[in-house]
Formats: sequence, C-alpha cells, structure tokens
Amino acid sequence: MTKPILPGATIGVLGSGQLGRMFAVAARRMGYRVHTYSPAEDTPTGHLSDREVKAAYDDLAAVEEFVRRVDVVTFEFENVLSDTTECAARHAPVRPGGGVLHVCQHRRREKNFLYDHGFPVTPFRNVDSFDDLERAVAELGYPAVLKTAGFGYDGKGQAVVRSAEDLRPAWESIGEVEAVLEAFVEFEREVSVVAARGLDGDFCHWGVVENEHSNHILDVSTPDAPVSDSVRALAVEVAHGILEALDVVGVLCVEFFLAPGDRLMVNELAPRPHNSGHFTFDASLTSQFEQQVRAVCGLPLGGTDLLRPASMVNLLGDLWANGEPDWRAALADPAVKLHLYGKAQAKPGRKMGHLVAFGSDRAEARRRAIAARNALVKR
Ligand code: AMP
Repeated sequence: MTKPILPGATIGVLGSGQLGRMFAVAARRMGYRVHTYSPAEDTPTGHLSDREVKAAYDDLAAVEEFVRRVDVVTFEFENVLSDTTECAARHAPVRPGGGVLHVCQHRRREKNFLYDHGFPVTPFRNVDSFDDLERAVAELGYPAVLKTAGFGYDGKGQAVVRSAEDLRPAWESIGEVEAVLEAFVEFEREVSVVAARGLDGDFCHWGVVENEHSNHILDVSTPDAPVSDSVRALAVEVAHGILEALDVVGVLCVEFFLAPGDRLMVNELAPRPHNSGHFTFDASLTSQFEQQVRAVCGLPLGGTDLLRPASMVNLLGDLWANGEPDWRAALADPAVKLHLYGKAQAKPGRKMGHLVAFGSDRAEARRRAIAARNALVKR
C-alpha cells in the first residue's frame, strides 16, 4: 500500500483561485502546509498559503523548484499544461494524475471519452471546418450549440445556432477553431454529482445537487435535487463509473442535463472541487475540500451526510456596481454564512464569493440565500 502523506507534510497546489483557497483552509485546519503556484501574486489561495510562487505554468524550471519542496501535488485549475504535470510527477505524486486533466481540459476529448465508455452524454459531433459544421447540424438539427474544443468555461467560446444564417457568424465567433457541435437540450433541470475517490478506490458522493445558471454562470446550488429515485441512482452510478474509468484520486464533479422523460445526460466534468459543492463546506459532515485533502494524502474519506437543508448563491462582481455590498444586511439572517475570496477587483461576472443559507427544508434555505443576496445591494 502507498504510504499516506500525514499532517505536517506540505501540499502543493497548481492554481491560486478560490478553489485553492478553500482547499487551503481545509488543509491547514488538518495541520498541513500549503504551497501555491500560478502566474499571479496576492491571490485567493496565496493569502492562506505558507508559500506563494508566481511563475508561468510553462516555466518548467520553476515548476521543478516548486515541486521539490512539497510532498504531493494537486491542482485547483484544470487548464494546467500536460508538460507541467509531467514535470511535477517526476518529483512528487500528482493527484489526480495528469491523465485526468488531459481528458477534462479539452471538451472534445472529454465528450469522446464519455461516449466511448458508454456514459450518457449530450448528442454531439466533432467539428474541424465549416463543412463539418454544416454536416453536423444536418445530423443534429436546430437549435444546437457550437463550443470550442479546449479551454472554455462559464459559457465562454460558445454560440447557439438556430438557423442556417447563424452558422457562418457562429463559426467566426469561436475563431474557426477545433470545436464540437452539441444538440441544444431543452432540459428540465441541471444537476450535478460531486464525488470523490480515495487512493484505495473508495468512493463517496454528496448526492444530486440542483443547479440554476444565469448567463451561463452558476447562480444557485441546492443539494438534494427533486429528482426520481431512478435518476438519483443513475446519476450516482454514472459518476462512480467516470471516477473509476479515469482512475481519479480526489474530487470530481459531473454536471448533467435532465431532460423530460427522466433522460439524464452528462454536460461536462470538472476534475476538482466544484462550485456546486461549495455548500458542503458549511452543510456537510466532510466538505469537498477536506475530502480532496484526504484523498490526495491517501487518508480515509470522511462521511458526506448533509447536516441540514442548505442552499448556496454565488456573489458575482456585478454586486459591487454601486459600491461595497451591505454585508451587515445579508448577515442579519443568522442562518447565513458569508464566504469571500479576497479578490481585490470586482468585475462583472467574476466570482467574488458566495453565501450559504440554511432552512427547515431546501426551499426555505434557497429563499433565505437569495433574500440575503438581495439584501446586499442598497436600494
Ligand atoms: P458549459 O460551459 O458547456 O457547461 O455551458 C454553460 C451553460 O450553458 C450550461 O450549464 C447550460 O445552462 C447552457 N448550455 C450549455 N450547453 C447546452 C446545451 N447543449 N443545451 C442547452 N443548454 C446548454
């Protein structure tokens, strides 16, 4: 058996955003040291780390120097280059392995992986040219969504096509690059399963979470989604199968569309703690961040029970449009928890923090979370 990496050891995190920050909170609470590496400084993760290294991901000499001073490497940002993870893996275990990143950082590879393994996935076609796009739309029909194959998130690099006139502008808008065309799914709900797999293959999950998006960005996440037992069981089975097939060590989130008739389809994967699992920090026996620490350090996984009904709302930079939000007003509800990521500049669409609210049931928790966010903006 591989030896566990015990408290007192140092965990290296590639990436320095809010996911790394919450990971660092969990790691430090358990007595680990945290080093973070990214091209930025004064970062959300850096604020809570023992060491913050500012260097480019392709500066392999800097990567090597970073990795030599840590006991294990994980990441909070999946667009780290393969060269970087391969370089890191020569000096310390990288968990999850670079192969997981390779699949998940590229939409087309990810979709083909899912399809080839028989997981239910949104109907799609690979597109490399305008001719491919015309052929793909003839097969999938309108409306459809054209998405760049790599490095897209929160709806970036996407264009909806509703008729033949949209094809040329859509192809130009994504930069005429390698892409996929997906059928547009008239979903009833979006749900996700945040799950984790330990070094010994142990599996756990936080149930099915309901996600509401606004402008392609996650807005509200509420655990214990109102889905049928069979959908719940299938969503968890698919998540388990994906973590096994990718040999994941750590947390991975599977985002699904649920279409009428209980048709469940994977939309995308995030090979790390995910925004739809932020509620676990306050509301679950073990948070997704602590689980990531446990998994990458080879410790047993913790329980994932939901302690009480909860709901999470994101705080985007738009809330700062008329000055600093009114934190006192949001916290006037004693069942509300505030998380801020320490980002210096609020920009529209930028994730600055989130609120978690509790309630006697999920609907009440959701109402209170939204009411607290509304109270932030002075009228
Ligand atoms: P993505 O970045 O691919 O997860 O897309 C962001 C959001 O856009 C999703 O959460 C959906 O709300 C919407 N979306 C993306 N792809 C589709 C699709 N094929 N059909 C319907 N809605 C979509």
